[in-house]
Amino acid sequence: MDVVDKQTRSRMMANIRAKNTKPEIIVRSLLHQKGFRFRLHDKKFPGKPDIVLPKYKTIIEIQGCFWHGHENCKYFNYPKNNRKFWKTKIKRTAERDKINHLMLHELGWNLIIIWECQLKNDKLNFTLDKLINLLRTQ
Ligand SMILES: [Zn+2]
Repeated sequence: MDVVDKQTRSRMMANIRAKNTKPEIIVRSLLHQKGFRFRLHDKKFPGKPDIVLPKYKTIIEIQGCFWHGHENCKYFNYPKNNRKFWKTKIKRTAERDKINHLMLHELGWNLIIIWECQLKNDKLNFTLDKLINLLRTQ
């Protein structure tokens, strides 16, 4: 049995989501600091991608491991309560991601996906270096 009702649960999860914008800010400030110009959540593109770099024809998506269902990731586990609800919800998000990413490819954009777990402590520098290298060779 779940200890909180559905409304409370979704409010709790909404709070978690709001706090999870941090990974995106890490990437944004690095790009800014390195002099890259970008647009945020551009509605012209499928799925309003997080970061759009027109000059590099590249789109960066920073995906939360929970919300986007990062497979084989230690930060991703279906909650024990309302398991079926979360399974459906997260699967739907992952499917939507896949479709959006395909469309972006078809529009001729490069796509870089960064998972939240790749920005954690010991992995952060490696991921950011890799990102900058990728962009510079684009
Ligand atoms: Zn992950």
